[in-house]
Amino acid sequence: MDTKPLIADLFIAGAWREGSSGDRFPVIDPADGSVIAQFAVASEQDCLDAVNAAEQAAPGWAATSPRTRGEILRSAFEILTREKEAFAEIMVRENGKAWGDAMAEAGYSTEFFRWFAEEAVRIPGEFRLAPGGDKRIIVTHEPIGVSLLITPWNFPAAMATRKLAPALAAGCTVVLKPASETPLTAAYVVDVLRRAGLPAGVVNLVTPVPTGPAVTAMLRHGAVRKLSFTGSTEVGRVLLAQASESIINTSMELGGNAPLIVLKGADLDVALEGTMAAKMRNGGSACTSANRIYVHRSLHDAFVEELRTRLAAMTTGPGLVRENKLGALVSVKERDKVAALVDQAVSEGAQVALGGRAIPGSGAFYPPTLLTGVEHGTTITRTEIFGPVAVVVPFDEIDEVVEMANDTDFGLIAYVFGEDGEALRVAQRIQAGMVGVNRGVLSDPAAPFGGMKQSGLGREGGSHGILEFLEEKYIATSA
Ligand code: NAD
Repeated sequence: MDTKPLIADLFIAGAWREGSSGDRFPVIDPADGSVIAQFAVASEQDCLDAVNAAEQAAPGWAATSPRTRGEILRSAFEILTREKEAFAEIMVRENGKAWGDAMAEAGYSTEFFRWFAEEAVRIPGEFRLAPGGDKRIIVTHEPIGVSLLITPWNFPAAMATRKLAPALAAGCTVVLKPASETPLTAAYVVDVLRRAGLPAGVVNLVTPVPTGPAVTAMLRHGAVRKLSFTGSTEVGRVLLAQASESIINTSMELGGNAPLIVLKGADLDVALEGTMAAKMRNGGSACTSANRIYVHRSLHDAFVEELRTRLAAMTTGPGLVRENKLGALVSVKERDKVAALVDQAVSEGAQVALGGRAIPGSGAFYPPTLLTGVEHGTTITRTEIFGPVAVVVPFDEIDEVVEMANDTDFGLIAYVFGEDGEALRVAQRIQAGMVGVNRGVLSDPAAPFGGMKQSGLGREGGSHGILEFLEEKYIATSA
């Protein structure tokens, strides 16, 4: 494998540098608790320097041709495709995920550069006659301006490229602030963009510790016109309030509580395969993870038995051991959160059919776990689990399961397994931005990703993704 040296610095105005304080924070390998790197701490002033650099680079980047922007993104796609294994290895080391999950993310995240390289040259516009017949309406799209991109640790590559690619394609300059658990993947991506020929100042990377005050300072810098955030609903709510002070345009990809429904007419094998993917992809640390699995009572026992067999077959251990199907959680703290949630579920009447106890040791491992006999409405059905815990709830009637599925403040994603027509009808009744029908993985750079209700605002990917970084302008002519 082509292992590259880790980059652990800030990237501001086209140069890698340490923070002005000289302080560093450790990046931990959650598989064994060891320190992989000491990453530069960005001070508030470093963060403002990054915004200044983006502001200075903005007019030049906005004036480049869409083709030029597209070709730089295409080149980033090609570099990352060549370096896929090295890229995946960094993700495994700082995030703990299994090798298969890291390779899948390497591929998925890279595709955003290809997709938006293609979208850069297809920014829409309008030219038409006003209804009165004597005037013209012209609608153009301009880059919205300096964009602050904030990403979580669970998909350290994909959540960054899903924002970077459309922002850069649109002609915006950016400051990327990754989660402090996983800054190395972000630094790698930023360096790939540098190597692909992105001019100085167009992309900047900062890692402030603590995060809150520095982000507030950046949002108050008059140049920031866009905040694109992926993370928890709790932090999203705080940032929306802060963005409102300067009326900053926001895109919010927030938490989920995905229901997965197995209808009476479902093909059991398709449903199980889809459930394994929807639940166990990324070790369950996904906003898209099936949080509540509702199974029709006629299929319940067979479904539970086979799900238990498939979960039990997943080997758990360090992601760098490629045979392991389930890696570590991102930290011991996250593992303990999952463990506490399972204990709470048991105290509320759930039965442990598999797993249910953290694996002792310095690694943040939690085994595949299956809980049955869970009642809808108990804590675990109302909380984003973010771990490898499958929660099964039986149901009898379609109206009842639709009501349970929609009984949440979240509305990111849902899954329905069943006979095609019926599954489609149920999918239409679910309040979620995305619904999979007889499919356990939906994410696709070419499709709009995003949530309803408290799961977010706006969409990423698809033909819509670039519009989040463009401002419409209407030009009226009299002739
Ligand atoms: P988080 O909200 O704790 O952190 C997300 C980012 O916000 C990180 O970069 C973090 O450093 C930063 N942050 C934290 N506090 C902040 C503050 N006060 N001001 C400014 N920035 C702050 O989320 P997380 O634990 O990293 O990620 C898990 C969450 O992300 C889950 O809720 C998950 O559902 C959600 N998520 C959503 C999507 C989606 O597309 N909807 C995708 C992935 C993850």
